[in-house]
Amino acid sequence: MRTIYGWKFMLTIALPLLLASLSVTLLTFELIGRVSTGANIEDRQRTTEIVKSALAAAQKQLSNIATDNAYWDDAARNAYGAVDEAWVDETWGVSSESGVNYDLIMVVDRQKPQPVSGYRWGKPYSPKIKDYYSGKLDNLLDILPQTMVTADAMATTLNTPDGMAVVAAAPIIATSDDLKISSTQPRYLVLVKFLTPEYLAAIGDQYVIKDLRLNTGAVPGEGEPVLDVNGAPVATLLWSDRRPGDIARAAVMSKAVPTLGFMALVMLGIGLLCWRMVRHIARREAVARHDALHDSLTGLPNRTALFGGIEDLAKRTDVPVVVAFADLDGFKEVNDTYDHATGDRLIRAVSAGLSHLADGRGTVYRLGGDEFVLLFSGPDAQEAARSTAERFIDFLRVPFDFEGRQASVGASIGIAGSGDGPLDANELMRRADIAMYRAKSGGKNRCCAYSPEFDIERVDNNAIALELRDIISRRTIAINYQPVVDARTRGIVSVEALARWPADSPRKIGPDRFIRVAEASGLIDDFGDLILAKACQDAANWPGLRLSVNISPVQLKNPAFVQKTLRTIAESGIDPRRVELEITEGTLVEDVAKAKQIFQVLQNAGVRIALDDFGTGFSSIGYLRQFNFDRIKIDKSLIDQILSGSAEQHIVQGTMLMASGLTAAVTAEGVEREEQIDVLRLTGCREMQGYFFFRPMSAEALTEIMAEPRFAIAV
Ligand code: C2E
Ligand code: CA
Ligand code: CA
Repeated sequence: MRTIYGWKFMLTIALPLLLASLSVTLLTFELIGRVSTGANIEDRQRTTEIVKSALAAAQKQLSNIATDNAYWDDAARNAYGAVDEAWVDETWGVSSESGVNYDLIMVVDRQKPQPVSGYRWGKPYSPKIKDYYSGKLDNLLDILPQTMVTADAMATTLNTPDGMAVVAAAPIIATSDDLKISSTQPRYLVLVKFLTPEYLAAIGDQYVIKDLRLNTGAVPGEGEPVLDVNGAPVATLLWSDRRPGDIARAAVMSKAVPTLGFMALVMLGIGLLCWRMVRHIARREAVARHDALHDSLTGLPNRTALFGGIEDLAKRTDVPVVVAFADLDGFKEVNDTYDHATGDRLIRAVSAGLSHLADGRGTVYRLGGDEFVLLFSGPDAQEAARSTAERFIDFLRVPFDFEGRQASVGASIGIAGSGDGPLDANELMRRADIAMYRAKSGGKNRCCAYSPEFDIERVDNNAIALELRDIISRRTIAINYQPVVDARTRGIVSVEALARWPADSPRKIGPDRFIRVAEASGLIDDFGDLILAKACQDAANWPGLRLSVNISPVQLKNPAFVQKTLRTIAESGIDPRRVELEITEGTLVEDVAKAKQIFQVLQNAGVRIALDDFGTGFSSIGYLRQFNFDRIKIDKSLIDQILSGSAEQHIVQGTMLMASGLTAAVTAEGVEREEQIDVLRLTGCREMQGYFFFRPMSAEALTEIMAEPRFAIAV
């Protein structure tokens, strides 16, 4: 979950933020770079032009000096023929000493290998011309005008043994016509100015070029080439670019970097803030999601999670899914007896136990209250569900002990599986629920697997419930009476009212079934009251005869039960002391105090209370004693065993002893054979009921029998 948020955050916030910052930074640097490089290039171009024109100016300056000195009558007069050395020295040689305008002056006659006259730095100097200028002076002289009319000088740059130099040459010509010089024998004034570092520095100062210097030979891609008279590069002028762009960049950068840095910090801050917000939201959402899917008391996944889990599994049709739906029995009593804190502890203990039992095989969910679900999947899901359910029931057999407080609960568990076909969660849970109710009505503390018959039965039950309503409103229920006899005298001591489905109904339904439907559909109160009313009405015709009426444990839950029952008896006009109510033990366990109280009020009014089906439950004598029953009816299943062997006989005998321990009268139910009577009488039981004596019969049939003296009421 975290990582999803991490990615979302990266994609929606961090990445755009980063990209925006990065592009702004890059764009800024790019712009600064471009502007500064542009400025640098432009400045270099301009400087190159300046360097070029500075060199040209130096050449031009020397040319002008050469022209001025060569186009002069005095020069023509003294430099031709036999040269007047003194004049040359005085006029030109002396000037070369300072090197201000030129360093070397030569009067050259092309026929002569050495200058006619020459001075270097004020001293006579006469090198071989060819050697000194590497044979290139001729090229310079060649391009001079040969007319000998004007003395326009030409200048170039040449390499000499004294270093790179600007060399200017002009033909020596007189301005006056009388001094005409023949063009076939011209002499030339050659002036040389060495490009010394000092001179270059002076030029640099003048033109504001930094570090102007000369490099002999070509330096490709750098500086400005210096060309000789033939146009061949002989040297390169170098200088240091001012690079104003760099300066500008440095200036801008000194402000831009902190600004960008600050911006990056702000972005980082915003990013961190967003990240924390996103993380906070993600955490809160994770907690909310967890809460939505989990039970707060036990931490187990809840109903929503269960349905999600089933739906997820159901998508894979090849995997069988099985749910075991457990409903605790007796949890309400624990809650009422102690307090809710104890109830909560019990639920937590149960859920811990259940989780332990299901560990590795299934998932435990709490649906709320005392309902739990185990979810299993895979080929052995059904088996796993059943064995876990059984182990859970076993686990609950040992009571919980919370600091001396004993809390005992059981569980009714319904199991339903997807079987062959896919199932939706609702259907699966509905089936598990039906199966769970089956387990409950089957006597609790057991598990029951869903069967399709349950559904058929359920449909039938609805029809039965519908008909029951009709029976109640039209009071058409039939009642049979089964006499109870004194085994010694064979006289009738009482009758038990047994409800019968009306004969004119299209279906035949036994009392076990329609009583269960009446209980499940909420009709049992009215139905039970109807039976009691009819039975009392009939009993009015049999004065002195005791009447037993069965009461469903569900009826006891109705707060109006006692009042209603007493009123119904009163309305029939019979003595309440003739009436006995039969109740099975099973449900008495649920609310002992309330049952005791109900019995007490009824007994105070004269009504007797009988414990029905004794011997089928598991309650101890000590427990049953507190209800103060007037009678115990020993169940048919025990009476059946009384003849099957001595061991069983002892069980019955023991049971009889237990019954007598309750200080109540005892009735044996379901006596079918004569031999049973003898055994029962030996155990001290006198009152008996069973097909051997009478089957249940109609009120009319009973009236007839009662008329026979041998069945006269034995009181
Ligand atoms: P129960 O209260 O234990 O009633 C005794 C049942 O045993 C009756 O079955 C009776 O016909 C049957 N029985 C008596 N003697 C013998 C015998 O010798 N052999 C055999 N095989 N059976 C014998 P029935 O009438 O089918 O009633 C079944 C159960 O339905 C009753 O068991 C009772 O729990 C319930 N029931 C019947 N009528 C009512 C009623 O009006 N109200 C309530 N709440 N339950 C009723
Ligand atoms: Ca009964
Ligand atoms: Ca019974």
